[in-house]
Amino acid sequence: MKTKSHTKDKYNVITLGCSKNLVDSEVLVAQLKHNDFDVEHQSSKKDANIIIVNTCGFIDRAKEESINTILEYAHQKEKGKIEKLYVTGCLSQRYKDDLEVEIPQVDAYFGTLELPQLLEKLNADYKHELIGERFLTTPQHYAYLKISEGCNRTCTFCAIPLMRGKHISKTIEDIIAEAKNLAKQGVKEIMLIAQELTYYGLDIYKERALSKLLYQLNEVEGIEWIRLHYAYPSKFPLDIIDAIKNCDKVCNYLDLPLQHANNNVLKRMQRQITKEETAELIQNIRAKIPDIAIRTTMLVGFPGETEEDFEDLCDFVKEMEFERLGVFQYSHEDDTAAHQFDDDIPQDIKEERASRLMAIQQEISLKKNDEKIDKIFKVLIDRKEGGYFVGRTEFDSPEVDNEVLIDAKKNYCRIGDFCNVNIIDATDFDLYGEVLAQTIYSQTD
Ligand code: SF4
Repeated sequence: MKTKSHTKDKYNVITLGCSKNLVDSEVLVAQLKHNDFDVEHQSSKKDANIIIVNTCGFIDRAKEESINTILEYAHQKEKGKIEKLYVTGCLSQRYKDDLEVEIPQVDAYFGTLELPQLLEKLNADYKHELIGERFLTTPQHYAYLKISEGCNRTCTFCAIPLMRGKHISKTIEDIIAEAKNLAKQGVKEIMLIAQELTYYGLDIYKERALSKLLYQLNEVEGIEWIRLHYAYPSKFPLDIIDAIKNCDKVCNYLDLPLQHANNNVLKRMQRQITKEETAELIQNIRAKIPDIAIRTTMLVGFPGETEEDFEDLCDFVKEMEFERLGVFQYSHEDDTAAHQFDDDIPQDIKEERASRLMAIQQEISLKKNDEKIDKIFKVLIDRKEGGYFVGRTEFDSPEVDNEVLIDAKKNYCRIGDFCNVNIIDATDFDLYGEVLAQTIYSQTD
């Protein structure tokens, strides 16, 4: 296929938002590189004359960050520091018409499914043979792997279906090919991501196919850890838990965003599950895999959430003792079903509830971390920072979960290797460890 020459121009792709957006940027950069473009991701060199901002439009704070980033580059364009500015991603998908009026310095805006149009605008070929190929921006030993796009659920607070559309699963063949490709690049751990993992397959195979996918991914040579992010709890298919149990490479880890536990709030959120059903699901999962780490996220300050509703949530969190928990404050999003409600919880109450819930989790996390002292875990080393090698156990995902810190003066590790670590101390959200003399290296020394 012909390739055009772009010798003068230097491109910089800026990514905001979540891991799903990051994967989109990795695909874009791979396409541009194969078109012989001089392109970098998040370069701090300031030598690029063309900027592409991949935006997030999830909640107010994310939208603000994206708008500020666009404005910063629009300003640079006005001052002649850059020549062209393009904007893509969720914010652009959702507010394209408004943005075109409000920030006209941007040369063109594109939606989440408009990669071919963006490439055409840049005078680059859309290379179909590269489907699944990415320029990795994460450390070489781990990568996110998107198994589907969009969501068919109707959670009333959520703007994601407005930006990412209906659920579209990738085929098992394409996902396996992408995983093999990642393994060839040195990736050892893959994080399966989707807006909604458990729906995987229903659109293209007319049946839920996540467990089938897991058994096949488990056979991919070079991949040693597979972890699951974002599984919707209602009608959760328990065969996924059997697959986690039976596949040695699938981590005993599950990201199960519950959003709330009070029945009034769950109903208004349209989560299609009750507190009692949620508790039963957690118990069933733990009965099958007692040491599984369950990560969840909760949303506080939803319209009409009373103090009693919130306390009900706190009691549930205390009772369930999730291994990992994150808290979001409700953001009143245009065009969502919840927008019809009055956003009646004042900001200071939302903040106070978020900190109260995190304080509960802090105690749970400290207790669970203390229980790990004097035990040995297989740890994947992510980086060296501030005198420590920093790694993770199978119970922790990058960026969001706990880390294991290993004193670099007393221990030697290689980034991207697995080693056996004895935990010697713990804080709320971190562990301290020492590498065992008889350590496991996943590569031949
Ligand atoms: S399942 Fe998740 S992505 Fe889908 S609508 Fe609900 S919160 Fe949004």
